[in-house]
Amino acid sequence: MNILDEAKKIKPYLVKIRRDIHAHPELGFEEYRTQRSILRELKKLGIPCRKMVKTGVVGLIKGKKPGKTVLLRADIDALPIEEENVCSYRSKNKGVMHACGHDTHTAMVLGAAKILSVKKNEMAGNVKLVFQPREEFVDSEFDPAEEMVRLGVMRNPKVDMCAALHADHSVLCGKIKVIHGPVMANADKFRIQISGRGAHGAEPQLARDPIYAAACVIQALQSVVSRNIDPCDPAVVSVTMVHGGTAMNVIPPEVILGGTIRTLNDKVYKLVKDSMRRVVEKTCESLGLKGKILFIKAYPAFANDERTAGLFERSAAKLLGGQNIVKNAVSSMGGENFAYFARKAPSVFCWLGVSKGKGQYPIHHPRFDIDENALVVGAAVLAGFAADNTGLN
Ligand SMILES: [Zn+2]
Ligand SMILES: [Zn+2]
Repeated sequence: MNILDEAKKIKPYLVKIRRDIHAHPELGFEEYRTQRSILRELKKLGIPCRKMVKTGVVGLIKGKKPGKTVLLRADIDALPIEEENVCSYRSKNKGVMHACGHDTHTAMVLGAAKILSVKKNEMAGNVKLVFQPREEFVDSEFDPAEEMVRLGVMRNPKVDMCAALHADHSVLCGKIKVIHGPVMANADKFRIQISGRGAHGAEPQLARDPIYAAACVIQALQSVVSRNIDPCDPAVVSVTMVHGGTAMNVIPPEVILGGTIRTLNDKVYKLVKDSMRRVVEKTCESLGLKGKILFIKAYPAFANDERTAGLFERSAAKLLGGQNIVKNAVSSMGGENFAYFARKAPSVFCWLGVSKGKGQYPIHHPRFDIDENALVVGAAVLAGFAADNTGLN
């Protein structure tokens, strides 16, 4: 089967699905219309499917012969952005827009399902299709990807490998970017409470000044990465919030600081957290105040499995030609809840070129849009990877 030709044949289908989802974007855990569309399309293809975690969907293309199970994942949520594009498929939902390309991801996984479902009698293994809600909003209490894993998405049949593509505005349509090694960062947040004693601004001797202590803590936090972490290990500590004080002649009793930490592995993450705790507590103590730091869990870091990334790269090169695989791509300090799948099975997360070239707007911009030929490339690459690992090619 020539998968690229198959993908080209279904381009009108891919464009229709993508435009329909683009015109009806929904925020995380509100993707009910999107969920209905996905279920309807999978049923049309004769693929058994069910709802999972509120607005998610899981489908299974069951091969006739035994073999590996390949999971293909799309995230399906949109962003709270007012779309500024003028086009026939412009968002009909005020203040909500598919500005991160998740409409594209959804259409491509449905397209890969359409290509593969007609071949299920020749397939040795299975393809699990995961449409995951709510990627854009980190919620430490309840993560949909973590919840899908908890509910058994990686079992029955057991998943052997996972793959996902994400739209990349910096890469020309027709190309894909494969990362070997770390892909996304631990992206946790922190909250620091500095408690002292309030007083009149003219009588600092009666206060334990949290404003001054906060200034010292912010300075000292700059030593966490520069003096504690191996310079070859990327790490970021950013203080992004300083809240304190109500009047110009009052020393307040308390200051709250907030910010984010990014690291690419758990060892460095632990080192950063331990150093931060020490800096906050000891700096405040030395000034006669109390400093407390609270870490708020977000998406964990993950890396591409070396062997799986190699398999994906070979499958993609077979379809697109080696010259269209962008090499030496580096990791991002962003976060992604694909991490919860990637930490359970050998996985690969790749960037799909969607850029039209000159005048291309970046993701999360109110005028972000894609070259729709990328839908063909993405559906072909996902189907090709699944086909190569289920004995179809
Ligand atoms: Zn995004
Ligand atoms: Zn995204």
